[in-house]
Amino acid sequence: MNKIIYLDAAASYQKDETVIEAEVDFLRNHYANSGRGICSRAAWVDDMLNFMRRRVASFMNTNAENIIFTHGTTDSINQIVRMLNLTDESVVAVSDLDHHSTRLPFVMSGAGIVVCPLDNNYDIDFNKIPYADVVVITAMSNVLGAVQNVAEIIRCAREKNPNVIAVVDAAQFVVHEKIDVAEWGADFVCWSAHKIGADTGLGIMYMKNPSRFAPVQFGGGMVNKIVADEIIFNNVPDVFEAGTLPLTQIAGLGAAIDKLEENRPNLDLLKYMYDELKEMSRVRILTARDAALLSFVIDGMHVLDFGAMVGVRGVCVRVGNMCASWIHKLMGIDASIRISVGSYNTKEQVQQVIKYIKDIVK
Ligand code: PMP
Repeated sequence: MNKIIYLDAAASYQKDETVIEAEVDFLRNHYANSGRGICSRAAWVDDMLNFMRRRVASFMNTNAENIIFTHGTTDSINQIVRMLNLTDESVVAVSDLDHHSTRLPFVMSGAGIVVCPLDNNYDIDFNKIPYADVVVITAMSNVLGAVQNVAEIIRCAREKNPNVIAVVDAAQFVVHEKIDVAEWGADFVCWSAHKIGADTGLGIMYMKNPSRFAPVQFGGGMVNKIVADEIIFNNVPDVFEAGTLPLTQIAGLGAAIDKLEENRPNLDLLKYMYDELKEMSRVRILTARDAALLSFVIDGMHVLDFGAMVGVRGVCVRVGNMCASWIHKLMGIDASIRISVGSYNTKEQVQQVIKYIKDIVK
């Protein structure tokens, strides 16, 4: 990774060589479309797709029929909103931990929005979950990096409405913790492959009851046959996957999951940085010491200036509102600086970055 120190895994994770090799092998030696041919290459691709679907299913403790490939968390949430056929009488409970991708599709649907309160630690206060038809749960905020008690939140939401649909955004959670959809009892769980070191343009959407919902995208691959005026759709999960899938990205997914399971990001690096930054009087840390991310602001310094100053030294961090305006507003700030690590980051790198920060902030 040349001289760059990349501390922005939470935006997109660097790719392990095994992921790159799997994609190159597919492109070079096996490339074909899926579900569309009987030649040996097409069969190879179908086998690969089935294997990857099963691999993702075991990764999330579910079955292959419950896994839908999409184009990312944003795409999944937009599809879910359309599947739910919300009206202006529907009530959707959200929280201020939400990413714009997770809340905005619901807001734009015209449904009524209620906000689940956060407690003093900025965690979702499951004792105060309001009545809702849909509860949207960000399992880990991309600003605060704290694990939410998804199972308990869903249990409390179901106490208020046994038929509530629980939608979980696991885009950050998936990097650090095992997803167990059975334990959560969620109706939908979404994450993006690029957050775990697979490629962009691929999302994973778990559906607890796929046969209860109708697809919202139409085209090739999801139709079995059309006879006169009758359209016979494919079975789940294919019926939810209209058009050609991002096959190259799927080819790299298994290697990324293997790598993640064998080696999750080392959060001790963030604890080390936390302890160093805590000593600096101008730095206000927003995250807990044991969080999966390290976010902070610096008194008297704009986050863009900070980003540019570490940037010229070859350090990549994320600065801005992180597409999470609501949590920033709640904390009384417009933007923050976020440091996140992947399993490829080292102690030497974070020590170097601490030196730069001390130099810049004084
Ligand atoms: N939710 C969270 C918590 C995220 O961190 C992100 C990515 N920043 C998203 C949703 C959206 O993911 P994508 O852009 O891959 O669709």
